Amino acid sequence: MSFDTLGLIDPLLRTLQALNYQKPTPVQAKAIPAVLSGRDVMAAAQTGTGKTAGFALPILQRLTQNGPAVGSNRARVLVLVPTRELAEQVLQSFIDYGNGLGLRFLAAYGGVSINPQMMALRKGVDVLVATPGRLLDLHRQNAVQFDQLQTLVLDEADRMLDLGFARELTAVFAALPAQRQTLLFSATFTDDIRSMAAGILINPLNISV
Ligand code: AMP
Repeated sequence: MSFDTLGLIDPLLRTLQALNYQKPTPVQAKAIPAVLSGRDVMAAAQTGTGKTAGFALPILQRLTQNGPAVGSNRARVLVLVPTRELAEQVLQSFIDYGNGLGLRFLAAYGGVSINPQMMALRKGVDVLVATPGRLLDLHRQNAVQFDQLQTLVLDEADRMLDLGFARELTAVFAALPAQRQTLLFSATFTDDIRSMAAGILINPLNISV
C-alpha cells in the first residue's frame, strides 16, 4: 500500500515524499479515500496512529478543489479540539501538509486575547482549529459564520466530553449547516460518544485501528 493509490493529488504526494512518509498508516488508508469521497467518518484512533494526516490530507485536497469562501468571517472547515496544545499541533499539521496550496489556517483557543483571532477571521480562513468555548465566544460576537462550512472534524471527542464541553458542542452543532461532512475521531467509544455521534453523523464509515 502506498499513498499513490489513495487518490491524493500530486502536490500532496510531493509533500508526503518531502516529509519522508513512505506509506499510509492503517487509519490513513481507510480514512483518506472516505473523506475524499465526501463521506462521514467515525474513527476509533489514538494519538500516534497518524489520525491527523488521515483527516488533514483529504480535507486539504477538497479545499483546493472547491472555490474559496466568499465574504469575510467565514470558515470552510472547522476542527474542534479539547485543548490549546492540540489546537497548535493540529494547526501545525495543516501548515505542514498544506504547504504551497495557498490556503489560510487559524487556531483559536481560550486563555489568550480574542482580538487577534477576530482580526484573522475577518479576512476569512479555510481551516479553523478551535476549542469549543472560544469558538462559541467568537460566534456569539459574529466573528465567525458557518454558512459556507463544508466539513466539521471532532478530534479527541472523548477528551472534549471528559473536559465538560458537551453543552458547548451541542451549541456549536446547532450553529452549523445541516448539509456538511462530519468526521469524528475518538480514542474510546463510550455511550456518550456514541449518542453524540448518532446525532451528528450520517451513514458514517466506521474505522477502528
Ligand atoms: P498523529 O497520530 O496524527 O498525532 O501522528 C503521529 C505522528 O506520526 C506525527 O508525528 C506524524 O508526523 C507521524 N506520521 C503520520 N503519518 C505518518 C506516515 N504515514 N508515515 C510516517 N509518519 C507519519
